[in-house]
Amino acid sequence: MVKKKGKSPWLVICSILLGVFVGSLTGTTAEIFGVTFVSLYDLIGKLFINSLMLIVVPLVSSSIITGIARIGNDSAFGRLGAKIFGFYIGTSLLAILIGLFFVNLFNPGDSFTSSSTLLSPSAATEMRTDIDIQSHVSVFNVLLQIIPSNIVDAFHGQMLGLIFFSLIFGYALSKIEQQPQSILIGFWQGVFQTMLVMTDLIMRFLPIGVFCLVAKSFANSGLESLRSLALFSLTVVFALSFFLFIALPLLLKVVARVNPLTHFKAMAPALLTAFSTSSSSATLPVTIECVEKRAGVSNRICSLVVPLGTSINMSGSALYECVAAIFIAQVYGIELTLATQFSIVLLSLVTSIGIAGIPSASIVAIIVILKALGLPAEGVGLLFAVDRILDMCRTTVNVFSDSCCAVLVARTEGEKDVLVRTEFELA
Ligand code: ASP
Repeated sequence: MVKKKGKSPWLVICSILLGVFVGSLTGTTAEIFGVTFVSLYDLIGKLFINSLMLIVVPLVSSSIITGIARIGNDSAFGRLGAKIFGFYIGTSLLAILIGLFFVNLFNPGDSFTSSSTLLSPSAATEMRTDIDIQSHVSVFNVLLQIIPSNIVDAFHGQMLGLIFFSLIFGYALSKIEQQPQSILIGFWQGVFQTMLVMTDLIMRFLPIGVFCLVAKSFANSGLESLRSLALFSLTVVFALSFFLFIALPLLLKVVARVNPLTHFKAMAPALLTAFSTSSSSATLPVTIECVEKRAGVSNRICSLVVPLGTSINMSGSALYECVAAIFIAQVYGIELTLATQFSIVLLSLVTSIGIAGIPSASIVAIIVILKALGLPAEGVGLLFAVDRILDMCRTTVNVFSDSCCAVLVARTEGEKDVLVRTEFELA
């Protein structure tokens, strides 16, 4: 087995802090030998994210196929599915309501002054590029993604199509004759284990990748932009923290009867990766490894809950969408009735299911919500300056929420080995 170097959370935490400091210091203009520092951070950061994305397709397919092939004949299949979806919807709704509470409490849009620096030009350009490459979020689009007409399409980053194909493939595999079945299951198990070893290898570069990604974010957005949107940013961070540190741990304690602190420790590498990459899809290999190897959830549960959750359970994003939409309405002085706020809650829930686990995906969803309610869609420009930094926070919450779902389902399915290990390498 590959030794798990570079997984020390303390080293990664230092890289994050260093990234914040160095990125803010160098900004977008400082250069070396005619090359800007920010483009170097960008290059190395992209290489790191690409290497994680590279293993997502084989990892997700092998994880789901081996998991489903084993339980395809199991009568618990339907019950498991209902439990998983119940948890996804329940936690996302809870997150949105927490966001709704705090945005109404702090009213960040009311004290917002239009003289504030809204948009750092480089951050805005980068954000627009991110938005352009994404497809529109609509219910029809989401449904169409589930069944792609071609399996190769599913391999082009269409996670829902890939998950659907793998689920059906695994189920069909559980129905074939024993001899070819064991050969195929052995093959997919081999792919799965190989992908985990590859994840270990990539994770050795985590501190470098993290440093560059964080430095790039702070070089582009800077601490200044956080200041101009301080109350909005604080509202988001406060609401996300409440959900992350109070609501989810309570669920773990009361329903799953496990120690939330142990779970945080088990998930530390995945949370730090999510924070620095702002992409729950890129974090997926690390999430799977942490949930299975460190938290001790069985492959049977993890293979279903985590990949599916990465695609459709975006609690942190749902919360953010709700807070952002209401903030924009407040800035424009639009009075929101109870019915409109209720629509925002529902729309945040639905659109969060449709967005991809990539940086800035929520921006598209917020535009959809604003348009649907007749609110000024250009108001989304207000968020550009701080979106990347808040994205780091909400992606961490998305990943933790998926992992909590895996623990809850595993414990309620009677798994006793979950989080029995309490010591994880921290140094
Ligand atoms: N970056 C988030 C994720 O990957 C999605 C978003 O809210 O923009 O989970």
